[in-house]
Amino acid sequence: MFEGLSGRLGDIFDRLRKRGALSEADVGAALREVRVALLEADVALPVVKDFIDKARERAVGHEVLRSVTPGQQVIKIVHDCLIEMLGGTPGEMPDINAPTPINLIAVPPVPVLMVGLQGSGKTTTTGKLALRLKDRDNRKVLMASLDTRRPAAQEQLKILGEQIGVTTLPIVPGQEPLAIARRALERGRLEGFDVVLLDTAGRLAIDEELMAEVVAIRDATKPTETLLVADAMTGQDAVNVARTFHERVGVTGIVLTRVDGDSRGGAALSMRAVTGQPIKLIGTGEKMDALELFHPDRIANRILGMGDVVSLVERASQTIEKEDAEKLAAKIQKGEFDLEDLASQLRQMRKMGGLQGLMGMLPGVGKIKDQMKTAGLDDKMIKRQEAIISSMTPVERRNPKIIHAKRKIRIAAGSGSTVQDVNKLLKQHQQMADMMKRMKKLGKAGMMRGMPK
Ligand code: GDP
Repeated sequence: MFEGLSGRLGDIFDRLRKRGALSEADVGAALREVRVALLEADVALPVVKDFIDKARERAVGHEVLRSVTPGQQVIKIVHDCLIEMLGGTPGEMPDINAPTPINLIAVPPVPVLMVGLQGSGKTTTTGKLALRLKDRDNRKVLMASLDTRRPAAQEQLKILGEQIGVTTLPIVPGQEPLAIARRALERGRLEGFDVVLLDTAGRLAIDEELMAEVVAIRDATKPTETLLVADAMTGQDAVNVARTFHERVGVTGIVLTRVDGDSRGGAALSMRAVTGQPIKLIGTGEKMDALELFHPDRIANRILGMGDVVSLVERASQTIEKEDAEKLAAKIQKGEFDLEDLASQLRQMRKMGGLQGLMGMLPGVGKIKDQMKTAGLDDKMIKRQEAIISSMTPVERRNPKIIHAKRKIRIAAGSGSTVQDVNKLLKQHQQMADMMKRMKKLGKAGMMRGMPK
């Protein structure tokens, strides 16, 4: 459905092959594409503008790593910016064993207010959160529905409670929301509950009456958390919803639902930007256990609509040492490329996750991957080739032409392969060496830009 950002950037940077620092022009061209990607992901316009300015500031003048293209480098910078704006730290994954990120530091029963529009998944999320707090955090949880408007709302929560084994406040017909909230806290106190989840009523759209009701409940209960439950599919409207709730009620965290759907997750960025409050959890399905910690990293990937180019750039920067690359470039310039060099290339490839790993990180290569498999180009092949090369003597590696039939049999036996495999490797090396000789004319820069995109 969406064309990946990296694909589009690829076109721009195909024309841009120079090294060194990113110029204003490079960055400008790339950021125009990033802007389109963000809008397609439904990030609200003012948030997009703000983001692009930040990314530009960061990217201009940034060095381009040797082993990646300027396009990939810009994506990485944009991606890091995005993670930070989503409240994360690039390269850091949330600890899945950490306690649920809900502030429960207060005298129990701790009130937690669930707010949001009708249909956002508020009641479902209340149930999911209750289950999580009970099972993972060992809390005794009471749930209460304050929704007296929607006829079946209180009933719905009660049924959920029975399903997940969490107590709900008994329904008293005709009682007003504020009175229900007070009763819930009273009951929580009397029966030793740790947490009381208050599921407020929603509306189809924001209206004054709703805000006033939620504010009154907030003032009466003084919750430690007011969680805004919002649908990830909310597009440009996400900003209005988040802003109004935050201005009127004071949101302390956001729970994004339906992240399992095919939205691109732009609402996450919009809501976080407008409220400055963290996205604490995400709903990833209709089942009661489908509530997960928020991974800024994953949402960033999704918003940018790309394969994992980012980890490619990260791994490249970790594994490809500058000196190695320079040594190789110097050799190539002299038209030399022996089997030692091939072995070191294979090693590097393996470090970067092997052929499959590398290909898997690039968007849109599924088909090529299959073709490679049928052609026998897989990670086993890389290992086999490394084994063959290590069965040769150093002299043979530097000058493969001296390897004769008898030696080939020995090398094959020593590496657990066949003479055909050895021949294939030698032929492949010869082809690469020939190609490198031709590239000599193009000079040092030509080769290093030849990394697959
Ligand atoms: P409320 O009006 O805000 O209380 O919304 P509900 O909790 O009744 O949810 C509305 C619908 O959304 C229900 O059918 C839920 O099963 C569904 N829903 C809620 N959260 C998620 C989610 O994270 N993923 C998916 N796929 N569906 C969800």
